[in-house]
Amino acid sequence: MSRIICIANQKGGVGKTTTAVNLAAALAATERPTLLVDIDPQGNATSGVGLDKDGLSQTIYDALINGVDPRGVVMDTGQPFLHIIPSNADLAGAELELASLEGREQKLRFLLAELRDQYRYIIIDCPPSLNLLTINAMTAAESVLIPLQCEYYAMEGLSQILHTIRLMQRGLNPFLKIEGILLTMFDGRGNLGKEVAEEIRSNFPGQVFETVIPRNIRLAEAPSHGKPIIYYDINSRGAVAYLKLAREIIQREAANG
Ligand code: ADP
Ligand code: MG
Repeated sequence: MSRIICIANQKGGVGKTTTAVNLAAALAATERPTLLVDIDPQGNATSGVGLDKDGLSQTIYDALINGVDPRGVVMDTGQPFLHIIPSNADLAGAELELASLEGREQKLRFLLAELRDQYRYIIIDCPPSLNLLTINAMTAAESVLIPLQCEYYAMEGLSQILHTIRLMQRGLNPFLKIEGILLTMFDGRGNLGKEVAEEIRSNFPGQVFETVIPRNIRLAEAPSHGKPIIYYDINSRGAVAYLKLAREIIQREAANG
């Protein structure tokens, strides 16, 4: 059975898409069939794996709103064991359209139910808001991975997403878990990054991934080449970190049975 993990944080620029693309690619590199699902109208995960987001004939929008068979919107990424359901600006209007549909929070869950048996992992990249698209992701997912940029105000937005997760647990998805908080863009040169990381770990014991994603220019460059980091520069610190994150997730799963 597949595991569905959504990558969410209502703040933009914290490393959601970078994590979704590179975690998915790292999991796929272990030969575990993986599906990356882009539900952000910005379509950055879509272009991040090399697809031309403006030249797509069908996207997640068609499956969510127009009832197109989800199997028809799955695309190859050119990388082994990694497929994607792409997104683009078409999805920008979907929030409003979804709002008037019956079962509006469950659309993605039902859509992925038809694909689950084909994948070991399904990784969902959320938009930078706690809107109906993100609620769809949290309804479909087993767990939420929260990327947190190692900066002074990092903790501020955290209470908001944790509150949303609690609401989900009380209603739409009683079994939703927190996969973990992932410290991203870590800069080990000064004290700030280390202090922030320490504070978050002491506030959320056992909930922060051991793996820390360093600030690494190669991670920022890779999307413009349409490649996950492991296919752009396997020796970069960014690639090593995301491979380690994938291992950590796989190992923890094995430990939990
Ligand atoms: P989000 O999806 O949360 O908005 P992104 O993953 O798009 O965030 O990251 C925001 C920007 O920061 C992008 O330009 C991305 O390439 C860059 N970035 C993300 N993670 C790192 C990192 N660890 N090191 C350097 N740049 C990064
Ligand atoms: Mg993004």
